[in-house]
Amino acid sequence: MAAFSATISESSRFLSSTSLPHDAAAPKRKISASPFPSQCRSFSLPKPFPLSRLGVVSQWGRGKSLNICVQASVADISVETSMDKVHLPKGNMWAVHKFGGTCVGTSQRIKNVADIIVSDDSERKLVVVSAMSKVTDMMYDLINKAQSRDDSYISALDAVLEKHQSTALDLLDGDDLATFLSQLHHDISNLKAMLRAIYIAGHVTESFSDFVVGHGELWSAQMLSYIVRKNELDCKWMDTREVLIVNPTSSNQVDPDFLESERRLEKWFSQNPSKVIIATGFIASTPQNIPTTLKRDGSDFSAAIMGALFRARRVTIWTDVDGVYSADPRKVSEAVILRTLSYQEAWEMSYFGANVLHPRTIIPVMRYDIPIVIRNIFNISSPGTTICHPATEDEDGQRLESPVKGFATIDNLALVNVEGTGMAGVPGTASAIFGAVKDVGANVIMISQASSEHSVCFAVPEKEVKAVAEALQSRFRQALDAGRLSQVAVIPNCSILATVGQKMASTPGVSATLFNALAKANINVRAIAQGCSEYNITVVVKREDCIRALRAVHSRFYLSRTTIAMGIIGPGLIGGTLLDQLRDQAAVLKEEFNIDLRVMGITGSRTMLLSEVGIDLSRWRELLKQKGQVADLEKFTQHVHGNHFIPNTVLVDCTADSNVASCYHDWLRKGIHVITPNKKANSGPLDKYLKLRALQRQSYTHYFYEATVGAGLPIISTLRGLLETGDRILRIEGIFSGTLSYIFNNFTGTRPFSEVVAEAKQAGYTEPDPRDDLSGTDVARKVIILARESGLKLELSDIPVQSLVPEPLRATASAEDFMEQLPQFDKDLARERQEAEESGEVLRYVGVVDAVNQEGVVELRRYSKDHPFAQLSGSDNIIAFTTTRYKEQPLIVRGPGAGAQVTAGGIFSDILRLASYLGAPS
Ligand code: ADP
Ligand code: ASP
Ligand code: MG
Repeated sequence: MAAFSATISESSRFLSSTSLPHDAAAPKRKISASPFPSQCRSFSLPKPFPLSRLGVVSQWGRGKSLNICVQASVADISVETSMDKVHLPKGNMWAVHKFGGTCVGTSQRIKNVADIIVSDDSERKLVVVSAMSKVTDMMYDLINKAQSRDDSYISALDAVLEKHQSTALDLLDGDDLATFLSQLHHDISNLKAMLRAIYIAGHVTESFSDFVVGHGELWSAQMLSYIVRKNELDCKWMDTREVLIVNPTSSNQVDPDFLESERRLEKWFSQNPSKVIIATGFIASTPQNIPTTLKRDGSDFSAAIMGALFRARRVTIWTDVDGVYSADPRKVSEAVILRTLSYQEAWEMSYFGANVLHPRTIIPVMRYDIPIVIRNIFNISSPGTTICHPATEDEDGQRLESPVKGFATIDNLALVNVEGTGMAGVPGTASAIFGAVKDVGANVIMISQASSEHSVCFAVPEKEVKAVAEALQSRFRQALDAGRLSQVAVIPNCSILATVGQKMASTPGVSATLFNALAKANINVRAIAQGCSEYNITVVVKREDCIRALRAVHSRFYLSRTTIAMGIIGPGLIGGTLLDQLRDQAAVLKEEFNIDLRVMGITGSRTMLLSEVGIDLSRWRELLKQKGQVADLEKFTQHVHGNHFIPNTVLVDCTADSNVASCYHDWLRKGIHVITPNKKANSGPLDKYLKLRALQRQSYTHYFYEATVGAGLPIISTLRGLLETGDRILRIEGIFSGTLSYIFNNFTGTRPFSEVVAEAKQAGYTEPDPRDDLSGTDVARKVIILARESGLKLELSDIPVQSLVPEPLRATASAEDFMEQLPQFDKDLARERQEAEESGEVLRYVGVVDAVNQEGVVELRRYSKDHPFAQLSGSDNIIAFTTTRYKEQPLIVRGPGAGAQVTAGGIFSDILRLASYLGAPS
């Protein structure tokens, strides 16, 4: 048995001001070798003593699956055989917990954390704690202020003091409080001196800065340890700078030195053996004992390293969300919690910006198959997300349908594109490019090279791009001058959207679906990268498109539900009926077809109603009255399109207003789909119409207007179907006006024409002024819409229209005057009808598109009594398509072509057509 001197060694102190006098936790006293192991508190190893002799064999650097735990516990050490040495027990008896800043944000929360620690019945517990929320930011701010010689660093430091002092006053009392406050004041006065030095120098070194910012963790860990110790007597706090040794790397990161850390941990533990250890997150030391940090958000990494050093059973990361979501819940409200993630998936998610976990957290724990569980301190009942080896994934039988697990984004990037024919086949070009990038210390986030080798494109943080571009310009000066390289281009304002999922590798078509979702949301992809591991597909998009892109792909893969934000313009008779139809059908659409239609806004000409989550359609009339604000179409559009979490937007124009119609172009350009029964855009000036259709065809934005002709009857879609399948339109002829259909169906010789018109007006079939129907303009608009749809380039003025309003009555002031005078003209139409009757014919008011002669007309025509047009009743429309295929017998569509219910129904079916274009199941 080796004889050890059982002395407490002074733990290595980097700067005396930062260390808590260990008297609270680990009394600095000399303990002589005792026969009672429990009293063997702290011992130091003789320097050259090989760890293996103590049975503590380092596992570092061995194969991945090594999970051997050294089980010796304090109680196992017999004085005779343990050489008076307290070993660090390792393995399953340890549970590691990490509490993020928000978990320890207030005194009440710190108490809550202490309760969680105490109620964990694990044999041993190692707790890693972050600084109180915002404190690390405050500390960085102090440095920035001092460095830029801004005196307010003094008051900012006071605020730091005040925050911790008041928390301590809330939490602690007696000796604990006195000791803590004395330490706090001591630290603050040292910090003041240091910041003063930084202020004078106007400069700060990294290690100085790391030393300052790490104080938040020192204070929070100490406060927590006092509270825990009230319940768990065997509790020590650990200044991890004494244990965690890391080497700085060139890329502003640090690599843990596991061997040295393990050695120091053994030493620390031998001096502070305890069952509960409260350790500082974030901070560490270099091998030269200089304080450093694990960089922003590094406490997760601290916990993972600790988990590995202790070979813990599990590392639980407590934060303020229920676990890892399929996307950042602040950006995608529909994101769902992922119950399990593989290490690889978690790594990819965190690397690409899911800041719920620091990306480097995975590596240390993966080595020992230690699961990480992310849990919500504010919702303890939620099981959280378990990150573990895929073998145990989906154990509970919960198979995720989507091959894609989650999405993450990184903003503030720039793309650099190095392009030129001289790059192809020249070995070493890529290495020269990235050599130059490395020289300026820039971090390359993704790389994409076309297989033609004509260009290499990569993304770097925006703030580094200037230096990168300059370095490349100078490195390739000669090649640029000689034209071998054509350019080094910088594309600023980019973001990365990463799609992550281990099953993507074995599922064909994932990228097609991804790009399809992006195209449908009208998002331009600037660069693409997919590693051969296929864990992730990364695309670069414009920064302003990023959130929309994220939502579009998320809803496509994850929700598998087509969610559409709708804005309804014109809640009059038709718009109102549509809203009522939507109200009645919404639940069925959602449940049976996974189509989620949300009306985010309703606007009339004076008032509009906006909602962040979707208007309750059972009360829309009441809400519009109560909560309506002054209508503003621009604001309305912006709200429906931009201010929510839904990737697809449609504006439904239920007005007959040409001002509203003139906005369609702009809306389509912004990626907003448009659906309308308003004829004004398609029958307006030809050049505008052509521009609109060209824009619609170029983009993936949809413009549907079935209800402009024949209300709910499938007229436009029938015509499209014919054209798209290669049929050729010869002629379209039809009764397009429900009103005029009614009038002539009832003008059978028993009553004068004016009486039939009066009856139609009474029954509500006509416009308030029947001249609007009788003039034929409305029919002419429908003719022009069908003519243009068939490829004819006609203006409205090219269509001769026979008006049924007698010439002398066209200028009559009111509808009433008109109706009063109309009987005077009855005889003309009576005569015409009589003549037709005599030759076995009827009068019908029709519109005709003559595609062969490229013309159209609207007029009163005579049809033989056995013609389909003569068989109509009520206000039916009838449309006959004569085509190359339907030459002998035209294709006829017939049915009610007017009225609020059928028109709204036509609009509704356009909305569902849009949903299916956007991926809803059929
Ligand atoms: P802590 O201080 O506890 O370490 P962080 O703020 O670092 O907490 O991380 C938690 C936050 O990460 C959450 O509040 C959430 O807004 C954000 N986050 C980003 N992406 C995701 C995601 N995919 N899943 C869960 N949270 C995410
Ligand atoms: N307090 C540190 C930070 O805010 C580390 C952490 O909380 O993870 O960056
Ligand atoms: Mg964090």
